[in-house]
Amino acid sequence: MGSVSSPVDLFDLLGQTDRMAILRALVAVDAATAERRLTFTELKRRAGIDDTGRFNYHLGKLVGTLVAKTDEGYRLSKFGRRLLRPMTTGYYDPESTVSEIRLPGECSRCGASLRVRLHENVLQVVCTADHVVNYGLVASPGLVVEHPPAEATTALGLLTTHAVELGTTGVCPTCHGRVDGEIVPFEVRDRGDSADDGRGGVVEDSDDADCYVFRAPCETCGNRFTTPVGGCVTTHPRVVQLYAARDVDVRRTVPWTHPFRHAGAAEVVSHDPFRIGLVVGAELSGESLYLTLDGTGSVRSLQRLPP
Ligand SMILES: [Zn+2]
Ligand SMILES: [Zn+2]
Repeated sequence: MGSVSSPVDLFDLLGQTDRMAILRALVAVDAATAERRLTFTELKRRAGIDDTGRFNYHLGKLVGTLVAKTDEGYRLSKFGRRLLRPMTTGYYDPESTVSEIRLPGECSRCGASLRVRLHENVLQVVCTADHVVNYGLVASPGLVVEHPPAEATTALGLLTTHAVELGTTGVCPTCHGRVDGEIVPFEVRDRGDSADDGRGGVVEDSDDADCYVFRAPCETCGNRFTTPVGGCVTTHPRVVQLYAARDVDVRRTVPWTHPFRHAGAAEVVSHDPFRIGLVVGAELSGESLYLTLDGTGSVRSLQRLPP
């Protein structure tokens, strides 16, 4: 029975031709049949390993980690499926191309229109002048591959809201481990130095050096969750209500269409104790809200601002 306690063990486990052949056979059957399993003999045949002793040895290395043994045969374990199934979806093919989707809103740097594109299998929101509005979207390529544009845009809003809500309440959006977040000055490193950094966070590529963001890095998976301060209050009941009264579901709209979710929308009102304030709904006709938050992103006061 195998065991995996570190990524190195996992690479050792995968770095062998016979074991890959066994896994490939199980991935194929996992995708194609409801039973998702193969008998010992059938698995041996499909893996193309004639020597029973050798087959047995390598299968034994996989059982208990990537492969589960049942009374009816062998199948991918839950962990194995999570790890290996994405390889068969085609989304991870660096050559794959999908049509770009036009998005609502505009680039905060140049005002040009926005689109979501698949760049080396990472989704990016970019403007027509190629400014990247956010690094590392929360969504998988399936979002643009399988959904029509309008649906994909709503899904993008929902996914972002979901991830930001998790990240700002102490749950890593990527691995669901525990994270401690705080509001800190925006640093260049928050921008991410590669396209897939910061997955789970949404920060506009701001030139504003002294803006603040909510950051909750995860030590377990390395995700550097970062969101503009407005992300901390997006699902606050009063904020949801303010937009709902104008028939806008703030949870389903892409974040950059709301000025309060832009980087730089919040201003520090005191350093000791730390308080940062922002106006929500300034773009709406009628009443807006002024909220102040503490360093952990919790709302400490809320005021109605008359039109
Ligand atoms: Zn732009
Ligand atoms: Zn994590």
